[in-house]
Amino acid sequence: MYKMFGRLKITPRFVWIILFVCIVLWAIRGWFRKEEQVIFYSDENHYDAVLDELLKIRSPGSIGHYQVKTFLERELKSLGFQTKSEEVFEKFPITNVMGIINPNAKEFLLLSCHYDSKYMEEVDDYVGATDAAVSCAILLNMAKTLGKYLRETFSKRIDMGLVLVFFDGHDTLEGINDGFVPLYGSRRFLTQEASILERINLVVNLNLIGAPEHIYISHYENTNHFHEQLADIEEDLKRSGQLTECHTLFYKITDYYSDFEDDIDPFIESGVPVLHIVPHTYPDVWHTNMDNLEHLYWPAIRNMNLIISRFVYEYMRSVK
Ligand SMILES: [Zn+2]
Repeated sequence: MYKMFGRLKITPRFVWIILFVCIVLWAIRGWFRKEEQVIFYSDENHYDAVLDELLKIRSPGSIGHYQVKTFLERELKSLGFQTKSEEVFEKFPITNVMGIINPNAKEFLLLSCHYDSKYMEEVDDYVGATDAAVSCAILLNMAKTLGKYLRETFSKRIDMGLVLVFFDGHDTLEGINDGFVPLYGSRRFLTQEASILERINLVVNLNLIGAPEHIYISHYENTNHFHEQLADIEEDLKRSGQLTECHTLFYKITDYYSDFEDDIDPFIESGVPVLHIVPHTYPDVWHTNMDNLEHLYWPAIRNMNLIISRFVYEYMRSVK
């Protein structure tokens, strides 16, 4: 018995045709999605070379601090960014280093980390690998990995811009240790860069990456969907064989009630959405002279490089 909807007669043949059309549409969608899947190859030599430049004592006022600041400016320029560094004086010169693509854009994605190392009176070889040299190198490696896309395609966009900020004065300075992270650079950024601040869609901040056994969970409800996207990207890259053998980094677990003090705090206070990519606990080597190259966990760093690059690429492609 055939059903009638108005003048339309639902016959088995009609059902088969509809089914066939659906399968064809589904196949076409799958084909296009596959076409969109770009495989990125993270340049590991570049990553190693960048990290090597960063792994030195770089507390404000030190020679290493000046060398790293100069290196970041040079590297950002070579990766196609316009750079801007503004110095303020807080006992020592504090200088945020900013790189920007499409400065006149209507909206920005901002990625950040801090490049200064904590002043450690009792330790004379503290290089803060996880705090936060590894994170800074991940951001520069992302810019290198996406370099062709950023220069040839993204740089023509008028709606969307990319900002990388390497904050200074995150950790305690020589002679000042009241137990709090001062966050001089990120607090300063909000007043210095008010015109950019009002156009930021999302702040992504990386810190404390590079120790073994760490996992990453979601800290903010308004950016949980981005955290879940990171987990999906990791799963996707793993399935397609692009990741190094490693435990899963991103879990779709939420904890909206605790987070580390970090350079995101001034942005949260200003109402800017924040995605905080920090592990669930501090590294065992945190603020010790063991936070160095020797104690880094490379599978997680390699995978993080690919996941972050893919995330930034997807973010840019989705906002149009
Ligand atoms: Zn620190």
